[in-house]
Formats: sequence, C-alpha cells, structure tokens
Amino acid sequence: LSDRLSGVFDRLTKQGALSDDDVKAALREVRVALLEADVSLPVARDFVAAVQEKATGQSVTRSVTPGQQVVKIVHDELVHILKGDTDPGVLKIDNPPAPILMVGLQGSGKTTTTAKLAKRLKDREGKRVLMASLDTNRPAAMEQLAILGAQIGVDTLPIVKGEDPVQIARRAKTQASLGGYDVYMLDTAGRLHIDEELIAQAAAVRDVANPRETLLVVDGLTGQDAVNVATEFDDKIGVTGVVLTRMDGDGRGGAALSMRAITGKPIRFVGLGEKMDAIETFEPERIAGRILGMGDIVALVEKAQETFEAEQAERMMKRFQKGLFNMNDLKGQLDQMLKMGGMEGIMGMLPGMGKMKAQMNESGFDDKILRQQIALIDSMTKKERANPQILQASRKKRIAAGAGMDVADLNKLLKMHRQMADMMKKVGKMGKKGMMRQLGG
Ligand code: GDP
Ligand code: MG
Repeated sequence: LSDRLSGVFDRLTKQGALSDDDVKAALREVRVALLEADVSLPVARDFVAAVQEKATGQSVTRSVTPGQQVVKIVHDELVHILKGDTDPGVLKIDNPPAPILMVGLQGSGKTTTTAKLAKRLKDREGKRVLMASLDTNRPAAMEQLAILGAQIGVDTLPIVKGEDPVQIARRAKTQASLGGYDVYMLDTAGRLHIDEELIAQAAAVRDVANPRETLLVVDGLTGQDAVNVATEFDDKIGVTGVVLTRMDGDGRGGAALSMRAITGKPIRFVGLGEKMDAIETFEPERIAGRILGMGDIVALVEKAQETFEAEQAERMMKRFQKGLFNMNDLKGQLDQMLKMGGMEGIMGMLPGMGKMKAQMNESGFDDKILRQQIALIDSMTKKERANPQILQASRKKRIAAGAGMDVADLNKLLKMHRQMADMMKKVGKMGKKGMMRQLGG
C-alpha cells in the first residue's frame, strides 16, 4: 500500500499542473490502496466519492502544489471519518461505582485491555478501580486478571468457584459499592466466533450491570472480520466504543476506517503491545497516516520531492562531470526556472551565477526572455540541440526565424550556453557532495 500510494503521490508531486483527470486517476489508485489495506469496498467507494467532491470544489491552483493539495484532502477526509464527536480518551465514570463492560472475541485482548485501562484510570485520574473476570469457561483467565491486578496495583474481585457470569457481575457490583470504588470493570469471556450463547451471556451481564461504557475489544490485525464482529456486538449488546488492539503489529488498520464508517462507533483506545502501559488514546491523524501507509503525509510529499530533485541533480551531475551540457540541458534549466517563477532562487543556488545574474538583470531578464530562449531551442533540430557547435550562419538564420527572433538573440543564448557549460564542468568536478551542497541539498 505504502509503495503504491507513494507512487501516486510521487506522480502528483512531479506534475506541475494537475488536471481533473489526474485527480480522478490518483483517486482510483487511492481506492485500490484502501482495499488493499482491508477497508471494505462500500467504505472505500464512499470515501473516494467524498474526496472527489471536495477536490473538485477547490481550486487546485491555489495550493502550494497540486499533489500536496490532493494529499491533504485525502488525509483530511480520512481524519474526518475516523473522528468521533466525543473525546475518545474520556471514559464516562461519574456516579460511582461506574460499571465498564468489556466484550469481544476470545484472544482479542479483553483481559489485557481491562488491566491497561484500570491502570490508566488509577494512574492518571486517581480512581479506585475493581476488576472482575467473568470468564467462567477458563479458570486460567480469572487467574490471569488477578495476576495482572497484583502487578499494576489494582484490586480484583476474589474468585469464587461455581458462579456464573451474571452472579459474578452482581457480586462485583455489590463489592464495588461497599468498597467505595469509583469504577468496576467486567472482563467477559470470549469465544473464537460470535455465537448466540456468547451474545446471550454478554446481554445478561449488561442487564445486571447497566454499564456506563461497553467497550468492544477488537484485534486490529483481523481486518474485515473485525467489522462484522463490531456490527454484531453493537446490534445485540450496544457498544459505546471500540478498542483496537495489536496496533503495534504491521497491520494497516484499514478495519478502523470500515468499522467507523459502518458501525458509526467511536474508536476510543489503541493497544500497542503486551505491557500494561502499551495503550494510547485513539488519534485519528495517526491512524489516517497509517492507513495511507504514511506516518506523515506532508512529510512524505516533501520527501518525494526531495528524492525527485536529488535524482535530477544526480543525473545532471553525471552529465556535467562528463563535460556534457547541451541545449537540451539548457532547456531543462530554463523550464525549471520558469516553473520556479523567477530567476532569483535558482541563480542564487548555482556557483558563479551571481555575475551572470547581474548581467541578465541588466538586460531586463524576465519570464518573457526565458520563454523566448526556450522558443529558440525548440526551433533547433535534435542534432543541433545535442551539438550546438555545428550552428553556422545559415542554421542560425533558420532557427532565429523559426522562433520569430533575430540572430543576435540566438547569439546571446549561445553565449549564455557556453558560459553555463564552462561553469557546469567546474561544478561537475566538485563531485556529488560539493554539488549537492551548492544545490542546497
Ligand atoms: P482475551 O482473550 O480477549 O482476554 O485476550 P488477552 O487479553 O488474554 O490477550 C491475548 C494475547 O494478546 C495476550 O498474549 C496479550 O498479551 C496479547 N495482547 C493483547 N493486547 C495486545 C496488544 O495491543 N499488542 C500485542 N502485541 N499483544 C497484545
Ligand atoms: Mg480474557
């Protein structure tokens, strides 16, 4: 995905002007890229349509570069969709003891996340938290929570053999009230797949506890399945937020976008490892960058530009080192100057150009002259451009006439070319490092 999008944005960056078709073509690739990141088809389709609409409404010329603008629109739209209405990191835990119900498939990270959030509430908000494992299927799971509780200094409900999840939930509620806890967290059992029993059990616990928050824990690596799980849990139990775990892995997190778009549920936290501190508040910007395969989109565009410029400089340098600087090279330089909208910048970067710049300014150097010079070069044959030495009187006359100018103008251009060729030879001898320095690289 990263490579593909980098390719798209590279291309956008390299193009001076961006047409409507270019935007469309780029968004077609964005759509494919989203699908590869495990974003569901309808979500990817809607997303691209939304971006298309926004991009079309804006004037492309107004932005710094068209590529940057498209990147920004893609990024902003992703963030817009991922962002919920409320602060993802703030759990509703007024009216103590506030129940928090943790649901999800087995192995999704419920128990780990329960302990992580309990620690967070204790450390950051000074809350007294009680944790209870409702996983009666696996005694080891109850032990697991007790061990984590001891490790992070958070109380767990004593284990009583033979109780069912609803009984444990009731006991947790009573214990939380009597013990003066601010929050009690119910870590439910999971199964490998959603089934009626799992849902019925979770629903029964919900009815007893009446949770302030019901957090669905989802493995961020499971992709499309995660969306189905989220939809099912939300329909049957009612979910107030999603925690995406294993985001420390190399999954793209495309499920986050699908989940958000399809269920409308806010993503609240992101699990980033097995350690008890490895949890963070969900940040749409970070996930957006990740779905696009870029940590920082603007930085990537800049990097693409730098790479492109470095490649160009390297190609140029190789020619200069060989003492090559023909009319094609000159035209490349003139085009570049035109694109940069002025002489000042580029002349200042090249060694020994100060004098020539003054000379040009004297003769009223501006874009018009750049264009005339380009016209003169365009009027040369391929052979003449490659070997300007062969230009004799008759050829000069033909070229000047072709560009609608005088032979004197052509002579000026040729003189400039000779001076630049000399200078380029010197630059080339300085080697790559010297040259990059001179070019400000
Ligand atoms: P549960 O069955 O839903 O309660 O899942 P657990 O909390 O027992 O977690 C299952 C495994 O996933 C454990 O080995 C955890 O250490 C691990 N795990 C949980 N969250 C994360 C996470 O964010 N990143 C990584 N790398 N591992 C995690
Ligand atoms: Mg568990």
